[in-house]
Order: sequence, then structure tokens, then C-alpha cells
Amino acid sequence: MSDGQVKAALRDATDTEQVVIGPGALDSVEEVFGRSFGERPAVVVADATTWRVAGQRVQQALEAAGRATQAPYRFEPDGFVLAEYGNVERLERALSGHDAVPVAVGSGSLNDIVKRAAHEAGRPYLAVATAASMDGYTAFGAAITRAGYKQTMTCPAPRALVADLEVLAGAPADMTASGYGDLLGKVTAGADWLVADALGIEPVDPKVWDLVQGPLREAIGRPEDLAAGDRGALERLVEGLVMSGLAMQAHASSRPASGAEHQFSHLWEMEGLGHDRRPPLSHGFKVGVGSVAVAALYQRLLERDLGALDTEALGRAWPAREEVQETVRAAHTTPGLDQAAVTETMAKHVDADALGRRLGLLAERWPALRDRLGGQLIPPQRLRELLAAAGCPTRPSELGLTASAFRATYVRARMIRRRYTVLDLATEAGVLGELVDELFAPGGFWADEP
Ligand SMILES: [Zn+2]
Repeated sequence: MSDGQVKAALRDATDTEQVVIGPGALDSVEEVFGRSFGERPAVVVADATTWRVAGQRVQQALEAAGRATQAPYRFEPDGFVLAEYGNVERLERALSGHDAVPVAVGSGSLNDIVKRAAHEAGRPYLAVATAASMDGYTAFGAAITRAGYKQTMTCPAPRALVADLEVLAGAPADMTASGYGDLLGKVTAGADWLVADALGIEPVDPKVWDLVQGPLREAIGRPEDLAAGDRGALERLVEGLVMSGLAMQAHASSRPASGAEHQFSHLWEMEGLGHDRRPPLSHGFKVGVGSVAVAALYQRLLERDLGALDTEALGRAWPAREEVQETVRAAHTTPGLDQAAVTETMAKHVDADALGRRLGLLAERWPALRDRLGGQLIPPQRLRELLAAAGCPTRPSELGLTASAFRATYVRARMIRRRYTVLDLATEAGVLGELVDELFAPGGFWADEP
């Protein structure tokens, strides 16, 4: 991983022009702003904490260079700014009173609020990272809760990102650990893309694949050092997260960085898991446990011979559209999510004939696919060790999930996104229920969950 790789990735990114990562990067914020926005005025957006750790310095640097600035927009009072649509509306109203370019000083939620509000105001923005907590800095789209329902709202990624490693090193340890969990999820996300590729559903783009998977093993390889505050390990993490965001831009899809582990996480997020905690349960912590869950499923799946399925029997047992809709409705009752889940599931539902053709293809390609997956995946026990070393939760109970709620996620998660993953493969191969039974049976990977 090097600066050159980020520069190469920027050439294919559609929104982001500049990324500056390094100790003291904050000193370059005026220069970066000027390169992307010329003489335009700036408005710093921060919360009480991010104002203290970086916002104030950004404001001073812009002023000292003689740049016109609006009074900073600060989310008050001190506490956790939630990515709720009301905050987007408030900021958008403030932005509509001037023409300054927002400078978002913050991490996940604050960045998402500014990303969407800037888009609604018809403006680009600059992001200043304050924690290596997720891969969203350089990704398009914002996760915003509206009318109680968490959704991904469209909006471009920032025009530029400044990530000062000295600032990031000072962030709470849980935030860095969360970024690690989000990055670790690229292991199973990659496996899911290989599955979709083998079945002719979504071909792998080798160039985009390399952006995420190239630096990944090195970036996740030193969780102990990361937890101990090692700068090199932090830099690898930040670069890995930034590259994932840029890959999503280049691919115009989150496919390169998000698979079934994110479906687990998104379902829990949409159902409000851990939202009452302070700070709220982080995205990366949920993705981390989701990654272990999905890796455990893969481990069982790879023991099967999916080249020897009784495809005719599977075709006869395959549910009709109405039946599938009923099942999805029964599984999802959260307002907003109920209808969305039906829409998403039906978008990837195939009829019995198409299923037969797909299973035929699977039979043909299974030996090669199984080998490729074996090379991509990391065993769930190892993922758990890595997460623990980084300071992440590794068990559903630590997220506040009962074993039965967690177990149900294996069946429910695939319904909320149209993306094809191992959960769909296992469903279509007729083995999902058996595999999950094995995971929770005595001796199974999740046998000891309370
Ligand atoms: Zn993520």
C-alpha cells in the first residue's frame, strides 16, 4: 500500500479528486480546499467534540490564509449527533443562506449529514476525518434515519478528504476498532462477489477488486499494534478504508466493499439495535460480528458438494412469487422496512426455470469456485481472534442480541437487499436451514451462544 495506490484509485473515482493522509495533514486543509474550490468561501461544520479536536484549527487555517468563511455551523449541545433527517434539514436551511462550501469535520454520522445536506443545497464539500471509524469518507451515499427508518440516501462523495493521522490517533479506541471491523468485512464481501461472478450475476471487475482486496491483508494483519496505538497500523487501516470508498465510486456500487456481513449489520441498524447506547453501537462492530457469522456459514457450505445437488427436486420445491412475498412480509414488520424488504427480495427472485439454469451453472463451476472461496476466506475462529485483538466485540451477545434473534438474522438478512450473496446461494441450493442448524447444534460454531 502506498500513496501511489491512492492516487491511482483517484483516477477512477467519479467524485473525489484529492485525498491527503498523513501526520499533520490538517496543515494542508486550506491548500486542498483551494485546489478543489478556488476562491469560494468555506463553512466549517462540526460538533462540540470535533470542533475541539480539529474544527477550530481548520477554521483558523482558512482564516489565516485570507479565505472568506461563514460562521462555523456547530451541532449543539455536546453529545452524539445522530444521522437523522432533521439534522440534514437544519443544516440545509443554514446552507441556503449563503454559498459557502461545507467543510465537514467529523466521522460517520456528521459526515453523512453534511454529505446529504450539501447535495440538497447543490454544493460539493470537503471532508476532514476525525476517526478511522468506517469506509464512508470516500463513499457516495449517506446512511440517514428518516421517519424512524434507516436508509441510504443518494449523494456524491466529498470532492476532497483530509485525514490527519495525529487527529485520528487521538480518537476514542472504540472508533478505531470500529473501522477495523468495517474493513475486516471486506473478506466476506469479496467472497460474495466471487459467488455472484461465478454464477454470471455480477462479474468481478479485476481493477476495482484490487483496490479493495490488494491492500486488505496487510491492513487487517496487525490488530494488536492498532490497539496499542501503532501509527503504521493506523495508517494501513485508514488507507484500506479510503481505498474501499474509492472502489465503490469507481464501480458506482457498494458491491466491492459490502456483502452479506453488511446485510446482517444493516438489518440490525434498521431495527435500532444498540441505538439507545451512548455512544450508539457502531456500524463497524456490527459488521465485524456479521463477518464472523458469514465466514462460519461459508465454512459449512464449503464442506458440501454443491456440484451434486438434486436440481429437479429443488426446482419442484421452489416457492412461487406470492409465497416468497408472504414469507418476507412475515419476517419483517418494521415500518418502512416491510415493503422495502419485499421489493428488494423480489428484485433478485428467479423463477424455477431460471433457478434450474443457475444450479446447472453452479454444478459446472463449483470445484473452481470452492477453490477461489477457500483462498479468499479467513476461518471464523481466526476472524474472531483478529476482532478481539483490535478491541471489537466478537459475539452477538455483546451486541445485545439473543441467540435466537441472531440465528434468525441468517434467514432475514438476505431479504433486505437485492445484492446476491452466500445467503442467496445457500437458499437457492436448499441448504441454508441445514447449515444454520449445524452452526447452532452442539459442537457447531455458535453452539455456546447464550
Ligand atoms: Zn461498512
